[in-house]
Amino acid sequence: MEVKILGAARQVGRSAILVSHNGTRVLLDYGALTTRIPGFPMHVQPREVSGIVLSHAHLDHSGALPIYFLRKKIKLHCTPVTSELSNILIQDFIKISGQYLPFEYVDLLSMNSSTVFHDYGEGFEIGSMRITLYDAGHIPGSSIIAVEAGSRRLIYTGDINSEETNLLKPADSSVGEADVVVTESTYATSDHPERLKVEKEFTEFARSVVERGGVLLVPAFSVGRAQEIAMTLYKNGFRYPIAMDGMALKVNNVLLRYQEYLRDPELLRKTIENLEEVSGWSQRRKIVKRPGVIISPAGMLVGGASIFYNERISMEEKNGIAIVSFQVPGTPGRTLLEKGLTVHNGKTAKVKAELRRFDFSSHSGRSRLISMLKSIKGNPTYITVHGDEEACVSLADQLKTDIGAYAVAATQGQELSI
Ligand SMILES: [Zn+2]
Repeated sequence: MEVKILGAARQVGRSAILVSHNGTRVLLDYGALTTRIPGFPMHVQPREVSGIVLSHAHLDHSGALPIYFLRKKIKLHCTPVTSELSNILIQDFIKISGQYLPFEYVDLLSMNSSTVFHDYGEGFEIGSMRITLYDAGHIPGSSIIAVEAGSRRLIYTGDINSEETNLLKPADSSVGEADVVVTESTYATSDHPERLKVEKEFTEFARSVVERGGVLLVPAFSVGRAQEIAMTLYKNGFRYPIAMDGMALKVNNVLLRYQEYLRDPELLRKTIENLEEVSGWSQRRKIVKRPGVIISPAGMLVGGASIFYNERISMEEKNGIAIVSFQVPGTPGRTLLEKGLTVHNGKTAKVKAELRRFDFSSHSGRSRLISMLKSIKGNPTYITVHGDEEACVSLADQLKTDIGAYAVAATQGQELSI
């Protein structure tokens, strides 16, 4: 079995791996780097690809996929919820970055008609390979991918979370033995704080902002994080108005149709029933003046209604802004978090609203990631990807030291024979 890292390995973004065996060549993910001018993985000619398996909907794993569907012969394999969610995200990607993309909406439609759905645990074949998906616990539909070819077995973690959240069950820990494990390394250098404590602190912050007459803005990704935040508030007895805006509402509708992928569908249903769904500008202008919580994409203030809300909310002391996800360097969300600065009336200004950060990560932190990796039997070789340089190298070093494994922090274009 040969494994080639096509994506930028020591970086988060444009994930893509090519696995080859006896003339069968399967792509695992084909993501984009969603910077202002998007970046893509190394290319493999469509005629050389036997099939594609998608781990989950996030654009850094799915964003460049439509390139392979200009002609319709290749099949895309994923869970049904991953297919629907990646469609929502790729459509938005085309809307925002269309001029830089080597594909169009019609190619996304072609991708949809070439998609084959699989549930967790249900094996399927591509050429000489047998593939199985396992729950990765990261976002709804997210999968760990196992590839068996000849006598070899590869496990690709995709993005993984082995801790239970309000929205999702933890990652499946019974993924079987492996000869090689390709693992994400996003949080390989740090542990997350205790989840229930974060939930309590966040709910208390929301309550204190609203009870002093303020509005709390929570810029949040539309897939997973927006729902997790709303569920946290509902579960912790927060009964003031909660409004949700943008693509997150479309995602709610998808998730309600795929309850088997959720930890507690009833909690999500009640949370959504309790939300005010924002559908237009008059409503937006009204809710920025009323004490309550507004959950709105984009999570890093790069687009969507969160920009409007931030402009209206950030300049009053009684208001609050809660940052609940990782902010990529160079984004307005990162500038806000690091320097307390935002753009107001076209000028850079110091934020007056109370700014707080809460760690609601959907990736395993260091200890959980390492213990999950160590628990995989079969004495596998580990390849670390999907993290910054320090994270990928440190995770590989740790695995070498702890269990004497052969572990390598891969570089883009690197090929390994397993
Ligand atoms: Zn992800």
